[in-house]
Amino acid sequence: MKILLMGPPGAGKGSQSERLVKDFDLTSISTGEMFREAYKNGEPLGIEAMKYIERGELVDDDITNEIVCKRLLRKDAERCFLLDGYPRTVKQAEALDDMLEKMNSRLTAVINITVDKVAILERMIGRRVCKRCSATYHLSFKPTKVDGICDKCGGELYQREDDQLESVRNRLNIYETKTNPLINYYDNRGILRNVDGMQSFNAVYEDIKHALEDIT
Ligand SMILES: [Zn+2]
Repeated sequence: MKILLMGPPGAGKGSQSERLVKDFDLTSISTGEMFREAYKNGEPLGIEAMKYIERGELVDDDITNEIVCKRLLRKDAERCFLLDGYPRTVKQAEALDDMLEKMNSRLTAVINITVDKVAILERMIGRRVCKRCSATYHLSFKPTKVDGICDKCGGELYQREDDQLESVRNRLNIYETKTNPLINYYDNRGILRNVDGMQSFNAVYEDIKHALEDIT
């Protein structure tokens, strides 16, 4: 099973992919995570990528393709994997096809989580993160007991720069204009399934599972 999970920022893609990876024993390939990791390790690729991320922009195609290509060549990506956050553009999708073809492989399914734009804005700008332990909260959906203070460690909460209104709006617009053509790209191949992301976490997860069964 080689799956791509798509959905705009704030669609709950992260938590869904975490559970899919666990239940289906998949190798998780998340470009966001790889970029953060590379940045933490001081790798030039990571430092370059973070400049785009901090501006709320998509990381350059060449940088992204390079980091994914390296990752796909590792042994644990041979059998089953779940891609999260990549490809984001048709150019990246074509590069991915080339990489997989060279490995005698191909994508099996593309799951597209759909959302309501206004609801997503509300979801994202309410997100708060603990400065000390990185626990995440939400002003409306998962508030802390004391305003602005982490329940777990007493640390101070803050709003990540990419969760601020302008940045979120920017990311949603970029997502629409750049990623929507991807949806057509995969739809034309008959491997795309849409899942309504405005349902509860479990309902979304069940729909994804059914879509995967249907397609594989
Ligand atoms: Zn904390």
